[in-house]
Amino acid sequence: MVKIYHATNVGKVRPNNEDAYAEINPDTFIVADGMGGRAAGEVASNMLIEVAAENLNPDSVPYDEKILSAVISDANKKILAAANQNENLRGMGTTATILHLYDDIAYYAHVGDSRIYIYRGGKLYRVTEDHSYVEELVKKGEITPEEARVHPMKNVLTQAVGVTEDFEIDSGKFPTMFGDVFLLCTDGLTNMVTDSQISEILSHSLNPAEDLIQAALDGGGRDNVTVIVLGIDC
Ligand code: CA
Repeated sequence: MVKIYHATNVGKVRPNNEDAYAEINPDTFIVADGMGGRAAGEVASNMLIEVAAENLNPDSVPYDEKILSAVISDANKKILAAANQNENLRGMGTTATILHLYDDIAYYAHVGDSRIYIYRGGKLYRVTEDHSYVEELVKKGEITPEEARVHPMKNVLTQAVGVTEDFEIDSGKFPTMFGDVFLLCTDGLTNMVTDSQISEILSHSLNPAEDLIQAALDGGGRDNVTVIVLGIDC
């Protein structure tokens, strides 16, 4: 069984919440962090969720990583088309992070700088890589992950959904274990809260989603913040 906790918060600075998240069918979870002028970011992140809901048929589980990637490709086409048809939506885009848990396997597909973590055996592991300029600098060894977290260009994405026809989707699968805790989150969490704080909260909190949001607000709340926490407990 999977215990599910989730929460979103506009934060302390932004006028509206461009994050979107959903549980699509049993055991399929999405976070999306929209970007774009005015309300366009919200449109993009919500379109991603709608496309996922349309494409993921409850009768055809499991959704392997290819099916999850196809959802993101389809959303990319639809968001691009909507942006081309409406000047107010031009330039919108979204991150897309989808996790599907089925029969002791976790399948995922991912674009952008939202993240999937797994907390296992008292340690926090990041499953996804950020598609961001600062992640490239970290990979090259030019800055540390801690410096990336507060870098002035940390918001610059190298891949996003709905922005260009050609883009890359990361995907994969791995076995789950009893006691695993999964975290899906937007960068409004990870820019405000360190991995060790996240670990600490996941290790003992009875309300991990609310506590992670509170930590992001205490850390400055400079962005919308969204978390889904999944505990596999039997
Ligand atoms: Ca964000």
